[in-house]
Amino acid sequence: MKFDLPALPYPYDALEPFIDARTMEIHHTKHHATYVVKLNEALEKHPELQPKSPEELLKSPDLVPEDIRTAVRNHGGGHFNHSHFWKAMKPRALGGGGEPKEKIAEAIRKSFGDFAKFKDEFSKAAAGIFGSGWAWLVLDGRGEILIVTTPNQDSPLMKNQKPILGLDVWEHAYYLKYQNRRPEYIENWWNVVNWEQVENNSQGSG
Ligand code: MN
Repeated sequence: MKFDLPALPYPYDALEPFIDARTMEIHHTKHHATYVVKLNEALEKHPELQPKSPEELLKSPDLVPEDIRTAVRNHGGGHFNHSHFWKAMKPRALGGGGEPKEKIAEAIRKSFGDFAKFKDEFSKAAAGIFGSGWAWLVLDGRGEILIVTTPNQDSPLMKNQKPILGLDVWEHAYYLKYQNRRPEYIENWWNVVNWEQVENNSQGSG
């Protein structure tokens, strides 16, 4: 099985003005597409791995032969993380942003006090990542939600944490519009969070 670049669930300009169309197009058709190509190239060397999902490969790096382990970590992680990222956003006009409802809202209150405190803590974690990486809200093995960060394209799955909301803070995600102003990108991104998807991620297979 070869992996394919998934289509975005909205047009490139749908997240304007918070995330600009040109950034979305390059991010999807160049960056994400390259992770998919390189993941497929790596797996061609070990066809026995091809039935496995990226989730399985990331959760169990020991299953991956050493000669492609780094490639699978970087490009499998890149493919998985970006597939998550696109779905976890939604145009503001269609109900993106705002505050979560349902069970995830309750879980956030329980773990962080209130939504404003959670948002502040998550934003600080994302802004504070040195170099390239991701900020995440994850579920750990005990069902607790917590904020974590990962470097490069590492996935929380590698630590048996289930990603429920991820934010890409690589410069390629924001540089055209925000240049070095990562905190401004983060603040704008909250306007397009797809809380229904976050709820689904926290319940189902994500
Ligand atoms: Mn990216």
